[in-house]
Order: sequence, then C-alpha cells, then structure tokens
Amino acid sequence: MKFKSKYIVPVGADGIYEIDTGKWRTERPVMDKDKCIECGICAMYCPVFSIIKEDEKYIITYDYCKGCGICVHECPKDAIDMIPEEGK
Ligand code: SF4
Ligand code: SF4
Repeated sequence: MKFKSKYIVPVGADGIYEIDTGKWRTERPVMDKDKCIECGICAMYCPVFSIIKEDEKYIITYDYCKGCGICVHECPKDAIDMIPEEGK
C-alpha cells in the first residue's frame, strides 16, 4: 500500500489510514517574501513539515498544512500572515 504522506496512524481493527490534515484548515498561512530572510525557523517549528526549502527558498505547501498558525507565531520577521480559507 502506498501513502502520499508519512502522517498515518493505526486505528484498531481498521488498520492504518492517512490523516488529511489539510482539510482541517479554516485559515491559511501566506508568506511575504519581501520580509522573509530564509532563516528556516518556520519550517523547523511546523508540526506537519508543510514548509519546505526549494531552490534555496522556503515555501509553504498546503496538502497537509492544518492552519495552526505556529509558523506565524515563530517567524522573527513577521513574514507570515493567516488569511481566511475561501468558503469557510
Ligand atoms: S521564519 Fe519567517 S523569515 Fe524565517 S524562513 Fe520562515 S517566513 Fe522566512
Ligand atoms: S499553519 Fe501550522 S501546519 Fe501550516 S505551515 Fe504553519 S505551522 Fe505548518
């Protein structure tokens, strides 16, 4: 069986299934690259590893971002804001 993510948990008789944490979100974090200094602190604190480094830049991916806001809280440059998810 192939999973899209490593975020899986055992659930008794039903075995193992994937937690689609991206569906929990009512707000999404958005990064202002003019303020970002690429320090990586947000990525270090994100509990679901949704902030990744690509081409020497940190970016937020949304498949598993649950909108917890920890990255906003930890960013030393106030470079991340939460905005409402459309339709929620
Ligand atoms: S913590 Fe803030 S400044 Fe550092 S990489 Fe993340 S968004 Fe950029
Ligand atoms: S809102 Fe939470 S889950 Fe989403 S990128 Fe920030 S720290 Fe990670």
